[in-house]
Amino acid sequence: MIEDGSSGPKAYFPGPRSENESWVRSEFQAIVDDWFDWRRNSLPGDPAAIGAEERLTPGFLVERERTAQALAELMALLRRETPTYSPRYAGHMVSELSLPALFGHFTALLHNPNNTSREVSKIGTVIEAEAIAMLAEMVGFDPAVARGHFTSGGTMANFEGVWRARYRLDHWLALALWIAETTGETLDLFAAAHMGWARFAELVSRYEPPAAELRQASAVAGNPADVFRRIGVACGRDYSGPVVLVPGNKHFSWQKAANVFGLGEEAFWSAGLDAEGRLDVADLERRLEDAATAGRPVLAVVSVAGTTETGEIDPVDRVCDLLENLQAGRGWRIWHHVDAAYGGFLCTIPDGRHEAVLSPRVRKALKAVGRADSVTIDPHKLGYTPYACGTFLARDADRYTVSVFDAPYLERPHLAQDLWSATLEGSRPASGAAAMWLTGRTIGFRPDRFGAILAGTVRARQVFQDAVRAALPDLRFLEPADSNIACFSLASDGEALSSANRRTAALYDAVREDGDFHLSMTTLRRPGQAAQIAAHAARYGLEDDDDRLVLMRGVFMNPYWSSASVSERLVPEFVAALRRSIETVGA
Ligand SMILES: *Cc1c(COP(=O)(O)O)cnc(C)c1O
Repeated sequence: MIEDGSSGPKAYFPGPRSENESWVRSEFQAIVDDWFDWRRNSLPGDPAAIGAEERLTPGFLVERERTAQALAELMALLRRETPTYSPRYAGHMVSELSLPALFGHFTALLHNPNNTSREVSKIGTVIEAEAIAMLAEMVGFDPAVARGHFTSGGTMANFEGVWRARYRLDHWLALALWIAETTGETLDLFAAAHMGWARFAELVSRYEPPAAELRQASAVAGNPADVFRRIGVACGRDYSGPVVLVPGNKHFSWQKAANVFGLGEEAFWSAGLDAEGRLDVADLERRLEDAATAGRPVLAVVSVAGTTETGEIDPVDRVCDLLENLQAGRGWRIWHHVDAAYGGFLCTIPDGRHEAVLSPRVRKALKAVGRADSVTIDPHKLGYTPYACGTFLARDADRYTVSVFDAPYLERPHLAQDLWSATLEGSRPASGAAAMWLTGRTIGFRPDRFGAILAGTVRARQVFQDAVRAALPDLRFLEPADSNIACFSLASDGEALSSANRRTAALYDAVREDGDFHLSMTTLRRPGQAAQIAAHAARYGLEDDDDRLVLMRGVFMNPYWSSASVSERLVPEFVAALRRSIETVGA
């Protein structure tokens, strides 16, 4: 069963040949039966609205036929959709849906709760809270105190992190500004912006600031231009606002956040990447010192567990060490958000029988995710859940709190009846929560369960890589691969990088043209990814003459790769397709 990594997925996925069709059909039937039964019996005394004879009138039958035809057309259209369920699809971060996720999603869809409010969604919100607790436990948060909610995806979950980090910093800074203006003392901007809630509470009780005046001193609740100017006066130098420190391999959702939150793209400071493409912690530390010197408070430090381009895992553990040391030594409390949109579910692998598929430092990084302030996870990626399903998690209720518009600025009411005030999105479905809830109750997020499935995907990436290396030595893998994404370029011995880049792009076109397997393409660029590009050129003896590295990218998240019958047939076919494509590219 699932303890055997190779056969585990078999009970939990439809099967590439619809192998599980008969029992999937019976479960869908059971879901629909139960839905009709619920509708028929929950208000049994109510009148029917559609009569038996009416349903046989010509007018009714015409409408029925119209719907049936349009539906058939829709189904025919969707049959031409990319078959992302197939192991032949390794293009982007999408693959098969798990059966628990599909059943959970579909069941909740029929009931259609709106989780914006506990008052209406009395069950949907409970399911959501339970699913959040399961995911919180998975990443190492204490599920009894962690908070969070489902979002439409990783982009929104990252925005939720920025929103809360900004709320916290804004409170600390507003109070310090008010005190500086009231007492005439100089504002120590950087220390004030990272003071912590204990110090905040102590200062509030000592100075008893009027809430209305604090509101005026807030750059979020008051007028930001006015508040920035006042901060400049209080600390004796111009104030340019806070910065967010993101690794150079950031997802473009962070640029969107800079735009949406009005921070300015300049406020997104890149921390350097090392030769293996991961966040360089020494550079992060320098950037933090730069921020302190420049009088730019740090809204948040972001680390990425599973980069979108190459699946790399930043040293989350060492980022935590750094920030914890800065807190102990300098009193700075700096928000740490882990963008684990892709890699969050890999947290199920460490400490289990399959943990050796991940390198020791990747395991250490994943085990530290629970030390962060907040985390993004995308169930619609490695959670095998239908779109749109992202998750925002905060370590505790304090970190989950955001500005409540009509509440007094000083009160920080925790989760109330109405969840809408705590989420950027308004109306929200319960289907993603139900999909994760059922996944947690069946597969479960333990190393021998979900961890076994994901370990199988990491192994599949290794098997592919070994087969390609043995057969096609001109395909040069980007090393090391931290997870289940393999990236490679086409280059012969001593070839110039510029020429290899051109041929790799041509190979991508050829593989697309061939059509048997789907891969994607990604490009690493200098200066952000300079060390990684140089390392790749040096490893394979390529002449380093270009400012970028073009890579083919294979995302081996499909669960069927770990089935022997699939890998024995399709790995050689994949190699053959790549060989054909390389031949059309030429030298
Ligand atoms: C996919 C991804 C996102 C964005 O998630 P969406 O669900 O597409 O909005 C953010 N960060 C990382 C690292 C991702 O891989």
